[in-house]
Amino acid sequence: MRKRVLITGGAGFLGSHLCDRFINEDYHVIAMDNLITGDLRNIEHLFKLPNFEFYHHDVSKFIHVPGELDYILHFASPASPIDYLKIPIQTLKVGSLGIHNCLGLARVKGARVLIASTSEVYGDPLVHPQNEDYWGNVNPVGPRGVYDEAKRFQEAMTMAYHTYHGVETRIVRIFNTYGPRMRLNDGRALPAFIGQALRGEDLTVFGDGSQTRSFCYVDDLVEGIYRLLLSDYAYPVNIGNPVEITIKQFAEEIIKLTGTSQKVIYRPLPKDDPKQRKPDITRAQEILGWEPRVERSEGLKVTYEYFKSLPESELFKDPHGREFN
Ligand code: UDP
Repeated sequence: MRKRVLITGGAGFLGSHLCDRFINEDYHVIAMDNLITGDLRNIEHLFKLPNFEFYHHDVSKFIHVPGELDYILHFASPASPIDYLKIPIQTLKVGSLGIHNCLGLARVKGARVLIASTSEVYGDPLVHPQNEDYWGNVNPVGPRGVYDEAKRFQEAMTMAYHTYHGVETRIVRIFNTYGPRMRLNDGRALPAFIGQALRGEDLTVFGDGSQTRSFCYVDDLVEGIYRLLLSDYAYPVNIGNPVEITIKQFAEEIIKLTGTSQKVIYRPLPKDDPKQRKPDITRAQEILGWEPRVERSEGLKVTYEYFKSLPESELFKDPHGREFN
């Protein structure tokens, strides 16, 4: 019998790559998404498969899934600064009511739950690189607060179900990840820079560009998540690529990759923008035998090809489909 997995946020960037992975591993995959930030185009190639189902549903409302379930992966959530500003309440609800529904369903089905947490639980970190024992430096009432606190609550709720109800749970703390199916123009650095290059605009670096990030290619991330799900480890595990780069260097890499003749221009740094971020992946190495394999130059090429393959009109739409130019 095929194992059955429910993936919330299944039409999103990470959710859709997880659907692909579990289909390749011969699971029965049920993707759930309310399509606020997800996109059916990310999973349309799976619709013809008998072992794939799609539920158009908001996980923050009561969820009903007939039949058995072995695993639940909670990946539904807005995940970009533009979304936090536009849909802050949904962001809070999916991390609180959404995980509550998933954990309740898991109890009934005897399923194991894996939740997508984030490096944002570390806030603007005072410890570098960030290991899982660091508690973070988060501003609950800042612009990122709705996301950061929802994810922190989600971790607490998950541990509570683990401790008090004996539900099998896994927590992955995801660091900056990139790859095909990211949304253009959702405010994140990589799609912003590639979109600007493709439109022939200058690349907007926020602040002086000295803030750092560490970018992980999506296939590496999915491998880490898959291993964590099948492990017996219930505490949080960082999954990310520890190769750190400044945002200014990153913009310059995109200029080189795309061959654009545009330059970097500087814009004000958004409030509470973390100054540095780099995962300590010792735990993932020791417990999962995992580390990233894809070089940034290689991953960026694939991602650029993806953005180039989109219809040109997409370049001029915001993530909610509205024309902005
Ligand atoms: N950033 C930038 N220009 C942009 C978009 C983002 O300089 O057009 C910066 C942003 O301020 C942050 C970094 O790039 O310091 C990474 O931003 P992203 O939104 O991708 O991820 P996060 O800040 O959540 O790590």
